[in-house]
Amino acid sequence: MNTLLLNDNEEDIKKAGEILREGGLVAIPTETVYGLAANALDGGAVKRIFKAKGRPADNPLIVHIADFSDIEKYNLVSEIPEKVKILAEKFWSGPLTIIMPKGKAVPDEVSAGLDTVAIRFPSHKVAQAVIKAAGCPLAAPSANLSGSPSPTEAKHVMNDLNGRIDAVVDGGECSVGLESTVITLAEDKPKLLRPGEITVGEIEKVIGKIEVDDAVLNQLKDDKKVSSPGMKYKHYSPKATVILVDSNDEEYIDFVNKNNGKGVAALCYYGDEKNIEAECFILGEKNNYKNQAQRLFKMLRKIDEEPEIKTVYARCPSVDGVGMAVYNRLIRAAGFEVIKLEDV
Ligand code: AMP
Ligand code: MG
Repeated sequence: MNTLLLNDNEEDIKKAGEILREGGLVAIPTETVYGLAANALDGGAVKRIFKAKGRPADNPLIVHIADFSDIEKYNLVSEIPEKVKILAEKFWSGPLTIIMPKGKAVPDEVSAGLDTVAIRFPSHKVAQAVIKAAGCPLAAPSANLSGSPSPTEAKHVMNDLNGRIDAVVDGGECSVGLESTVITLAEDKPKLLRPGEITVGEIEKVIGKIEVDDAVLNQLKDDKKVSSPGMKYKHYSPKATVILVDSNDEEYIDFVNKNNGKGVAALCYYGDEKNIEAECFILGEKNNYKNQAQRLFKMLRKIDEEPEIKTVYARCPSVDGVGMAVYNRLIRAAGFEVIKLEDV
């Protein structure tokens, strides 16, 4: 299959809409990461997403809409809980995904057989325009090969999926850089399943206390049932081994320099590179978690461009605010391997 590279002009967006209506796969920019879209109401089209990505069939997809009214218009849910309206009022359009009881129109392929469905209204103008041009809601997971870092630029999508999908719409770099915050309102109590740019604190300000699923910050035992199937898979990993180093600035720099050698690199904060002897990739500004979020996947992909790098010692962000999302992705990229420096 020849993958078309489209622009974000009106004519190309119309073309993307046509491909999607006919059951094809189109990668689209959103404010979080690039998504691999198919008509969410067409089970056959959705199956192709799983095949193109190599995604496990038990990992459900998020349905993207271009207006709150699309939820009822397309029968996506069986009920809209009251708190959904409050969250939507505050955070939509934007990087928040809300899980609700599934409606009749949603094929099992989208929900991976669950009786719930995840819905998001992206704020990216190109994403909205493609959804409108397609005339249907779009199921769209991140547009990467399963397991690799999520794509934040069209060229990342091409690297992973060229020849496996119909088209990519190039809308430039994603502004958030990490996938959406996921919250479920389909259980007794609201629960955060995946952290993102919209933080626990911001959500609690509008709907009160929420739980944070154990899988957000911890590695789960193999036999434990997870609320969000995506949490159990190894994720976001470059080919090199990533190890988080939990320490202060000086200890981190000393540690990397002591362990420096062939194939060693550092994923560090701006400024650290002046004192580190290994090759440095800059995660972002220290304590600026939005900046780190925006850069993380791009840096993991840059590391992949240098196959001679075998070990990456990464700074360990704190779990405050958006830091929780950066930590959640990095700890998975590291396969949960953390070195606490007072232990060594
Ligand atoms: P991705 O599209 O790659 O960002 O992945 C979507 C994430 O949302 C995965 O972690 C899924 O497990 C999660 N998700 C999607 N639908 C549901 C659902 N109905 N219940 C729980 N988690 C979901
Ligand atoms: Mg993904």
